[in-house]
Amino acid sequence: MVVRPLLRAVIMGPPGSGKGTVSTRIVQHFALKHLSSGDLLRDHLQRMTEIGVIANTYINQGQLIPDDIMTRVMLSELKKLHGYNWLLDGFPRTVPQADALDKTCQIDTVINLDVPFETIKQRLTARWIHPASGRVYNLEFNPPKTTGIDDITGEPLVQRDDDKPETVTKRLKAYEAQTKPVLDYYQKRGILESFSGTETNKIWPRVQVFLQTKLPEASQQEATIHR
Ligand code: AMP
Repeated sequence: MVVRPLLRAVIMGPPGSGKGTVSTRIVQHFALKHLSSGDLLRDHLQRMTEIGVIANTYINQGQLIPDDIMTRVMLSELKKLHGYNWLLDGFPRTVPQADALDKTCQIDTVINLDVPFETIKQRLTARWIHPASGRVYNLEFNPPKTTGIDDITGEPLVQRDDDKPETVTKRLKAYEAQTKPVLDYYQKRGILESFSGTETNKIWPRVQVFLQTKLPEASQQEATIHR
């Protein structure tokens, strides 16, 4: 039986960089727990918890949730993952968040998806939805037959607030200003692994090869050292 230390990993990349897709593939292929700050906030939002109500305003404006709130929510979730390999997604996004995380545990590796902003803007603003059915169209890969109209009902399509050009630009600017220092922070520690490219399907195999050296495959039963 192979014995490996537990892996504490972070995945980073601008919104729309394919971070969600790569994270899903990591979880499918490797034995680890995935904790996404965005998913966690959306869950709070749906349940209308106190955190959810506060988060709503910031998310709709394309702004980051204040560090103290975000850190409290994430660190309390992380406690539940004690004894597992884990991958943080969307957290930390700022240096104060990285500092707070650092005080709780030692991060082993940071996977950085380095996708150009222009590629992301094109991707994100291409998405239109039919609100009643949840049908999603993409102007590049899966366009509606008539621009702006749902194929089935003939009703108008809308853009989610998150996908509107002004919101996307705001989010990318917030990312640039607040998250780049976090990348520098991890770079200085020598644990930043950057994967550059414009296509998720080309980035993913390289991430997979990298993680194969650090994690058991999802199907394998291996012992772990609890640090
Ligand atoms: P995401 O799905 O990761 O893009 O997150 C959606 C939104 O949740 C972001 O635009 C932020 O408003 C908020 N959010 C998620 N993670 C964080 C974080 N670590 N710090 C502050 N705000 C966050």
